[in-house]
Amino acid sequence: MSPPLFDVSTISRSYAMRSGMFGRATAVHAVDGVSLAIAKGQTLGLVGESGSGKSTTGRIVLGLEPPDRGEVRFDGKPMAVPETAAWRAQRARMQIIFQDPLGALDRRLPVGAQIREPLDIHGIGTPADREERVRDLLRAVELTPAHGARYAGALSGGQRQRIVLARALATKPDFLVCDEPVSALDVSIQAQVVNLLCDLQAQLSLTLLFISHDLRVVRQISTTVAVMYLGRIVEIGSADDLFARPEHPYTQALVSASPAPGRRSAGRIVLSGDPPNPAARPQGCAFHPRCPRAIARCASEVPALSAIGGERQVACHLATGAQTRNAA
Ligand code: SF4
Repeated sequence: MSPPLFDVSTISRSYAMRSGMFGRATAVHAVDGVSLAIAKGQTLGLVGESGSGKSTTGRIVLGLEPPDRGEVRFDGKPMAVPETAAWRAQRARMQIIFQDPLGALDRRLPVGAQIREPLDIHGIGTPADREERVRDLLRAVELTPAHGARYAGALSGGQRQRIVLARALATKPDFLVCDEPVSALDVSIQAQVVNLLCDLQAQLSLTLLFISHDLRVVRQISTTVAVMYLGRIVEIGSADDLFARPEHPYTQALVSASPAPGRRSAGRIVLSGDPPNPAARPQGCAFHPRCPRAIARCASEVPALSAIGGERQVACHLATGAQTRNAA
């Protein structure tokens, strides 16, 4: 396997949250001891409910906010100090795509000018080269050069996300963080944009961190999948294996709600209890108040993320790994 393009090692990030104007501030552990790596040209799908820490992890990976602890490495080197020449060179190699394309675009500028903006900022090519590159990028995202003269408000949601993608590709990055990139789109358009991303990844050898709560989309695009719950990775493994045999009870519930295309669910696992609240993490295994398999030990002892065979790691006291696989 090729070496990782990026790897993060035991990163943590907390925020102070105050309840009411005079309430005491409490620390919210948005990300807690997360380690991840993505090999060049691969896609890591990062899944979990809202509040699980997925987006904060993506922002730390991109250097948009620093971790309180832990290390982020890109192409074998630590992230450069912000605003230095080395940082700008590193940043040009990584881009992010957000959920809301309309929010990411300026409604007052033609979209072609916005695709050209990163080339202007980084001083790439002559003005004529940049115009030619904009036309090429519009074709690469299956639009026409004529779309460059339009404004964001005159485009459909799918066309706007293609414009955002074209702008992200302008500096020829190696690495894209896609943060819920199709969640705001109609289901039929979602499939087109995800197919386009897959095609571009293959053509341009892109490495992707694909953040989503939607397992159907993650299944389509990912080579490896990591599942987050309240700031921690609870399961990670190759996508095919993890979707075929989810080990963690939380992953099992997510997968049961999103069966493979053309397959009926073997029975949906409905979780009881409230969705996760990052400001009130339960003791022991954070999932235990909702876990259908919880035992007494789960309320007091945090399960470590442990290898159970192959590429799979699971944070559960009951992870059976080898036995389950042999019996399957
Ligand atoms: Fe459920 Fe216990 Fe495993 Fe946590 S450690 S997922 S509560 S069985």
